Amino acid sequence: MFPLRRFLATTAKPLLQDVVIVGGGPAGLSLLAALKNSPTTKHLKCTLVEALKLQPVRDFGEDPPENFHNRIISLTPKSVQFMQEKSGSWDYLHQDRVKFYDNMVAYDSQDSDARIHFDASNVILDLGALSQIAAMCEVVHIQASLLQKIDALNEELPEEDQAVVIDEAKVVNIIAGNACDTIDAKSNPQTSLDWPVVTLSNGQVLQTRLLVGADGQNSPVRNYAEIESRGWSYDRFGVVGTLKLQFNDFRDIAWQRFLTTGPLAILPLPEDNATFVWSSTPELAEILVKVDEKIFPQLLNAAMTLDEVDLNYIYKMLKANPADMTVLEEIEWRTSLIPEEDLDEKFPVPISELMPGSRARFPLKFLHADTYIAPRVALVGDAAHTVHPLAGQGLNMGQTDVGLLVDALETGVDRGLDIGSTLVLEKYVATAWPNNHALMGVCDKLHKIFSTDAFPVVALRGLGLKSLNYFDVVKDIMVKAISGR
Ligand SMILES: Cc1cc2nc3c(=O)[nH]c(=O)nc-3n(C[C@H](O)[C@H](O)[C@H](O)COP(=O)(O)OP(=O)(O)OC[C@H]3O[C@@H](n4cnc5c(N)ncnc54)[C@H](O)[C@@H]3O)c2cc1C
Repeated sequence: MFPLRRFLATTAKPLLQDVVIVGGGPAGLSLLAALKNSPTTKHLKCTLVEALKLQPVRDFGEDPPENFHNRIISLTPKSVQFMQEKSGSWDYLHQDRVKFYDNMVAYDSQDSDARIHFDASNVILDLGALSQIAAMCEVVHIQASLLQKIDALNEELPEEDQAVVIDEAKVVNIIAGNACDTIDAKSNPQTSLDWPVVTLSNGQVLQTRLLVGADGQNSPVRNYAEIESRGWSYDRFGVVGTLKLQFNDFRDIAWQRFLTTGPLAILPLPEDNATFVWSSTPELAEILVKVDEKIFPQLLNAAMTLDEVDLNYIYKMLKANPADMTVLEEIEWRTSLIPEEDLDEKFPVPISELMPGSRARFPLKFLHADTYIAPRVALVGDAAHTVHPLAGQGLNMGQTDVGLLVDALETGVDRGLDIGSTLVLEKYVATAWPNNHALMGVCDKLHKIFSTDAFPVVALRGLGLKSLNYFDVVKDIMVKAISGR
């Protein structure tokens, strides 16, 4: 927990800012780029503070490594449009590391015929060239493109309007300026302002008209503003990693299989690369991160094709010995019972290799802040909401937040209003909160419906998937919703 306490005596004079953004993740950097890219808000004095070192992110942008990073997310066409038009960072991406896909197949491990196939190329399009379901892109790549865009914008701006990025500095304290009794009013006339005073671990002190929390799940800014965040742990982990396929798939398909332990997605990357997100119970996640790297690709292939009863047997063997090579024979024998044509058509291209050291696991949670604003405070991204990754919506919601917050601030500036006032910020929360709440509810229900093997639910969801697959109009609506349209 972030300590809400009077900060200790300091003689530093706070530097006055219009906007201080805490957090240099993709949401915080998107906000800084979008504010500086807007003719209406580019003159605002903006500083972003990030606890971690950003040099490795910059290095990635300059000279990306050959292998893909393991944190890869799917960006909806709406997010792509945001990056093209609002943050202006799209052109700074290395396009050969971005993979669009226009097909998605989701199927149920309890009933192999219960599957639904979305094809964006069949949908009546309203976004022209963006006729895709989503684009796969590394998180660090998104951050790098934003930093490059911010640098480019700074070159065009007069020095006093340039964005400031402070990294390797943690926000260690936040207090309302007019509650601060350690900076005396004579040396610091600004202390009579109610603007938040932010103290950094490097000793710098900033006082800001608007403080934005883009500081992730455990948001210190949310804590300062005393905004409640409600939710629960799913008691699941998302295990991720990067892969090589046996051959380059000419189809651009995202695959998702709903296992009772949680969904497993194999998502395409350029050429013969792919990534996976395997949501699993803590026990299974423990096995998945330990399994020998030579066995792991076959385990993934098995998890996309075999019955759960077979999988449970294999997990048991691997729990006893994560390097048990006899598992490979078990998988091969069980897979040989599936007809060849089914393997070719109904399932993803087999995985041949796990990129060494690329596995990682993240605890999965549902968290939603009661509101995204307080006087002189706004929250964006994971600071405002954390969602199950099964629909790949977390950062996409974060980008939408940023777009809506910038719209609200532009209106405030146009009308000559104080951008830290709730009058200006209301417009943001009024649109963002209900939309996110509805989407988060859908993701949560999907997790609950698919994480059971109880017969009535399995039968109903199987029937639902099979019937939906025949209704193109409904699928059109669904594909538009998935892709953020
Ligand atoms: C397995 C998995 C798969 C996912 N897949 C997708 C997907 O396909 N599509 C999608 O849209 N989303 C996806 N997400 C969600 C997405 O990764 C997050 O929503 C997104 O990365 C959050 O970005 P953010 O900038 O809001 O927060 P973060 O990335 O958490 O950034 C917060 C930043 O704030 C900094 N910070 C925190 N405290 C302080 C402090 N006191 N002082 C200074 N700095 C501080 C941190 O160092 C950090 O850099 C997935 C998530 C998981 C776990």
